[in-house]
Amino acid sequence: MHLIYSDAHRLHSPTLEYWEGELLPFYECPRRAEIILAAVQAAGLGPVTPPDDFGAGPILAVHDAEYTRFLQHAYDAWVASGRNPNGVHPDTFAARGMTHRPTDIALQSGYYSHDVTTVITQGTWQAAYAAAQCAVTAARCVAGGERAAFAVCRPPGHHAHTDLSAGYCFLNNAAIAAQWLIDAALPPLSGTPNTVALLDIDFHHGNGSQQIFYTRRDVLYVSLHADPNRHYPYFMGTANERGAGDGLGFNLNYPLQRGVTDEAYLEVLNQACAQISAYAPAWLVVSLGVDTFGGDPIADFALTGGAYPRIGACIAQLNRPTVFIMEGGYAVDQLGDNVAGVLTGFVTQTASAVVN
Ligand SMILES: [Zn+2]
Repeated sequence: MHLIYSDAHRLHSPTLEYWEGELLPFYECPRRAEIILAAVQAAGLGPVTPPDDFGAGPILAVHDAEYTRFLQHAYDAWVASGRNPNGVHPDTFAARGMTHRPTDIALQSGYYSHDVTTVITQGTWQAAYAAAQCAVTAARCVAGGERAAFAVCRPPGHHAHTDLSAGYCFLNNAAIAAQWLIDAALPPLSGTPNTVALLDIDFHHGNGSQQIFYTRRDVLYVSLHADPNRHYPYFMGTANERGAGDGLGFNLNYPLQRGVTDEAYLEVLNQACAQISAYAPAWLVVSLGVDTFGGDPIADFALTGGAYPRIGACIAQLNRPTVFIMEGGYAVDQLGDNVAGVLTGFVTQTASAVVN
């Protein structure tokens, strides 16, 4: 399995975030990616390679051009106007019916953000751009015939909409990989539809991924996540959101209760995988978050470390060319082991299936 990683993620390093009335150290920190990289290397999962540069095309196939222009230039405009160089911090948001976009790019942050976690610092665009290129490079690995690849994306992506940053996310790396496979890859079986199943196992619902593909049937979005009545993103992620128009029936949400155990989670994951099997996608993209872990500081499931190899094995049984895209996970002491656990479980199951 190729592991795709870029040092550029370090360029995105906000210092503080606002959480329930307090300013805390930024949870989504560069150390996360370094821990993950060290763990997957120690597990001997495969060679680590830097991403190739596919340019802006794969990003613009998913995201609004004006939004990406904002991401690229907001920090410089913010500082040039005399504001705090710690980063672009939106404090007022375009809510229901408020459609005016300020002409000053420094003031567009509340228009293009859903919450206060998407702080833009001097290197945020470079980091997000490199993460997207990691995702496309991993997608190209499987398009070229590899069984699986893992993109160590940071910042993560699954909360980012077409034109909205949210939940630490700026560019939707998983959606970019999925769209690239649809646009640029030949399906593994000639004559079959070029379809993608996007399985999201982060603790949080991938509101951005849902929004991007909601009216389409060539991408099946399937997500296991905390019930939005209890957790972020709050305003999306219920079971009755099933897609619209051509996409009706191709968006499957499995909201879960507090304290979900290994057994309960794997039972739902098996149901979700049965839906993916029935869809029979050409490709599988996995939004891999491990904030489902019981010790995660911003989540409330109760998974143990032992769940992660089983999750990987379950995904391997789908027997599809698979692109893993890193999303969340904030219990830094177990983060590396849990990510490596999923990938090791996947590889072990794949190898045993070949032997049998
Ligand atoms: Zn998450």
